[in-house]
Amino acid sequence: MPGKVALYPGTFDPMTNGHLDIVQRCAKLFDLIVVGVAVNPGKQPLLNVEERLAVVRRATADIANVEVHRFEGLTVKYAQEISARYLLRGLRAISDFEYELQMAMMNRTMAAEIETFFVVPDAQYSFLSSSMIKSIAKMDGDVASFVPAAALEALQRKFAS
Ligand code: ADP
Repeated sequence: MPGKVALYPGTFDPMTNGHLDIVQRCAKLFDLIVVGVAVNPGKQPLLNVEERLAVVRRATADIANVEVHRFEGLTVKYAQEISARYLLRGLRAISDFEYELQMAMMNRTMAAEIETFFVVPDAQYSFLSSSMIKSIAKMDGDVASFVPAAALEALQRKFAS
């Protein structure tokens, strides 16, 4: 893969406008952003990995230097496989920081050549979380302004069935 490749890993259950904001910002800084959708057997996602991939692909379709792939297992191993030297993580509030710092340190211990970048979203997205959006959507609340259209459709399909 060419130039500066950055991996943005996550569960994306579903992708929110906050996640998308991070991708848009970073697409201007790196040659290629790979959004890595984690299969993550430890978590019990609402959307299966194919649904999560499809949402991220549609939401990022107009950004030329973004690819979307699934991955399993250790994030740093996947980063090495695709020759990504950078890991991107979003920081919304101080509450994200402790966990993210711990993970960045563990990842550095496992793969010293990979650098973690923390990116802050626009303030309007700093309160968004996939879990809160799922809770609201489940109770038939309107989440249209918080998620890309593809995510809204996926949530509507899920809760209609
Ligand atoms: P994970 O299970 O790896 O935490 P998530 O999909 O929940 O996966 O989040 C992926 C990344 O996106 C994390 O770094 C998280 O902090 C960040 N993130 C989540 N919500 C937002 C948001 N609203 N704005 C910016 N970054 C976010």
